[in-house]
Amino acid sequence: MDCVFCKIVSGEIPSKKVYEDEQVIAFYDLEPQAPVHVLIVPKVHIESVLGVNETNSAVIAHVFEVAAKLAVELGVSQDGFRVVTNIGDNAGQTVKHIHFHLLGGRKLGREA
Ligand code: 5GP
Ligand code: ZN
Repeated sequence: MDCVFCKIVSGEIPSKKVYEDEQVIAFYDLEPQAPVHVLIVPKVHIESVLGVNETNSAVIAHVFEVAAKLAVELGVSQDGFRVVTNIGDNAGQTVKHIHFHLLGGRKLGREA
């Protein structure tokens, strides 16, 4: 499948990894929008929130466990941070493999 995040999961495309387990991988965004900008990506290919169902939803809960852990490790948990996922064109989703942006290290506006 021609999916950039599946290729990062398989190691075909390199990434600056901050975390990995059986279910998810987390790595620094290529074009950071904040001092801390990490993408948390389920290893299973789900296109977006629209592809989440009762069979695969456990990994989404796990993403938030990992987000909490990384926010502490990356030093943004005290001052605050954002976890966001874009769905479709109006939201600006460019990679059609579900991913969660963890953004922090600066005051974030209403639009980020
Ligand atoms: P979206 O706009 O789909 O929510 O976010 C996709 C994000 O993936 C963008 O912030 C973009 O910079 C990042 N991105 C796209 N391709 C790569 C890549 O090959 N490596 C890394 N580390 N980030 C990528
Ligand atoms: Zn994929």
